[in-house]
Amino acid sequence: MIEPVEQEIFEYIGSKIPEEACGIVGIRKGRMKFYPTENQAFDKLNDFVIDPKDYRDINAECDIVGIVHSHPHGDLEPSPLDRAACDRLGIPWYIFNTEEYIKLESKNEILPLIGRPFVFGAYDCYTIIKDYFDTIGIHIREYQYEWEFWERGQNLYVEHYQKEGFKKVTDGSLKPNDVILMALNSEVTNHAGVYMGNFKMLHHAPSRLSCRDNYNGIWRNITRMVVRHESMI
Ligand SMILES: [Zn+2]
Repeated sequence: MIEPVEQEIFEYIGSKIPEEACGIVGIRKGRMKFYPTENQAFDKLNDFVIDPKDYRDINAECDIVGIVHSHPHGDLEPSPLDRAACDRLGIPWYIFNTEEYIKLESKNEILPLIGRPFVFGAYDCYTIIKDYFDTIGIHIREYQYEWEFWERGQNLYVEHYQKEGFKKVTDGSLKPNDVILMALNSEVTNHAGVYMGNFKMLHHAPSRLSCRDNYNGIWRNITRMVVRHESMI
């Protein structure tokens, strides 16, 4: 458990009320240490997001043994999102209110492709594409990406698709397993989905469950590029 740092965590969480607070517990040089992290969520009153860059920096400095966040309203019950992200990351989660906390053990499993809650960095538009391609034997790399990378001068889909063996489709065709690159509320290509055929696209948009959506209207309008894996050409 995390007794050596729990008092420090209670204090930190108290200082952030009414917002949700978050942080990481690690072991550094044989000592337990709490690393508070800034909550990057849009809705800090009801949600939290740890910037994957913070996670990476802390991971470089210590062995991470727990992810901490608070439920300032007091109810310690993990949300479906809490549970899903904990399982995916394979690290225990600790949920605090001002008086007590619970530990959530990771089951180390990956959710099915449909119906996932959106958890940036664990269940998002990139991970569903990666997980989908895993199921058909095409393994694309894990990337580290920052929250709102598209507002930080990065264009990750466009920068990396060629390295992962995808080529831009230039003849206007659309085939199953094509990856559709989109710009959602942004000038930069920041969203993607996999075309499933029959005008359906598997994707995972922020604040929504992953699903097969109709590929028309809005999604078609914000499409910037279609890319196809070289094994499908
Ligand atoms: Zn929670």
